[in-house]
Amino acid sequence: MSAHTPSPNTLAQLQASERQRFIHSHPRSLALAQQAQAHYLFGVPLHWMRDWPTPATLFVQRAQGATLTCADGLAHADFCLGDTGAMFGHSPPALAQALAEQAANGLTCMLPTAGAPAVGEQLARLFGLPLWQMTLSASDANRFVLRWARAITARPQVLVFDGCYHGAVDDTLVDMDPTSGATLPRPSILGQVHNHSAFTRVVPFNDLAALERALADGQVACLLAEPALTNFGLVPPDTGFWAAARQLCRQHGTLLVMDETHTVSTALGGYARAHDLAPDFLVVGKAVAGGLPCAVYGFSAEVAQRMVAAKEAAPEGHSGIGTTLSGNALTMAALHAALNHLHTAENYSHMLAQAQRLEAGLRQRIAQAQRPWTVTRLGARMELQFMPHTPRNAQDVRDHAQADMEALTHLYMLNRGVLLTPFHSMLLVSPATTPQDVDRLLAVFDELLASLATAERG
Ligand code: PMP
Repeated sequence: MSAHTPSPNTLAQLQASERQRFIHSHPRSLALAQQAQAHYLFGVPLHWMRDWPTPATLFVQRAQGATLTCADGLAHADFCLGDTGAMFGHSPPALAQALAEQAANGLTCMLPTAGAPAVGEQLARLFGLPLWQMTLSASDANRFVLRWARAITARPQVLVFDGCYHGAVDDTLVDMDPTSGATLPRPSILGQVHNHSAFTRVVPFNDLAALERALADGQVACLLAEPALTNFGLVPPDTGFWAAARQLCRQHGTLLVMDETHTVSTALGGYARAHDLAPDFLVVGKAVAGGLPCAVYGFSAEVAQRMVAAKEAAPEGHSGIGTTLSGNALTMAALHAALNHLHTAENYSHMLAQAQRLEAGLRQRIAQAQRPWTVTRLGARMELQFMPHTPRNAQDVRDHAQADMEALTHLYMLNRGVLLTPFHSMLLVSPATTPQDVDRLLAVFDELLASLATAERG
């Protein structure tokens, strides 16, 4: 029995054989990858699609429910689900039907469809905020909310947590100096010329004292936060953290913006609703319309009044908020169908039950194999973490990073028909995920543990 992290040698040896296995079993993907090199940067339509651990890009033939079939005809139990975009399963029938109907009746008009008022009512009922605007992506929604927050508070600063990701939103693509707490440029960001330390503050997650210090001078327009960090491993809030943080924001006149793009997996209506956080703004993207390019942001009646006043006080002209296709007819139809058929108590109860089974199965296997790893779960999403405890902040994750172990796990599982989210070891359960899908993942995890033990003995 081993009570340790596998050695670099063990991981390199297994990684090499998994790469060979992928190459042998995916001739069609390899050929497509070769062909795509000619006209796509890095051989893919979006360069992130090369962030999978495979030696060549995996091309998709079809995705339906929780199953993704690749170009070589191999079926995969999909626990990545388009990094949350397909959280309710690929192409749910009700959504496919609504899209087909709307597609024959206009795609975009720069006018609301007759169904728009009903969608507004559904959003208010589900998320608990009365007023809404649409965008094409969560990145857009976050960018626009920052603009509104600064406009209505007349404060220049925004505050985020270390390790945050809120999309392609310049103000938030910053890091924190671990010793001084100063805002630093994120070194990986391309073409960065603006100095965001002038207008963005960063504090560690779960640190109320640092939060209070950052808010104290009354210059912070909003705290933009996920209820739990989900893009730097999964880092849940300490018990009582949000109740206190909510109170601090109120006390200092700072708006609380909850980005629920990922944490909508927590429960029907998202984390903030389930925990009564009463945010001033709420953002949901990705899965909100079942995976169509659509995001929504909602706000309180009081905030709405201030938004109207700010817009009316501004001269005629560009607001810097909105894009031409936002609220288009096709995505409004998708949103309508998604709110009716996907965001349902029944779906969440299935997702949560299967997620619990998966978490318990992984934990039991980790304990039996005596590996210093853990699993952290938030509703239907969980993270297999190659560290001994659930992290409390981003620094904790950095201190325990096991990139090679993660890469091996991803490729090993993919080679045996199980997809994890490529960016970290996130697993998401959809309404279409079956008990057999969960069992399959657990069986492959057993195999991985056995392969590690064999390699270590040899
Ligand atoms: N907010 C959160 C919490 C996210 O995780 C992401 C993407 N991973 C975004 C916003 C941005 O979403 P999109 O890329 O669809 O704009």
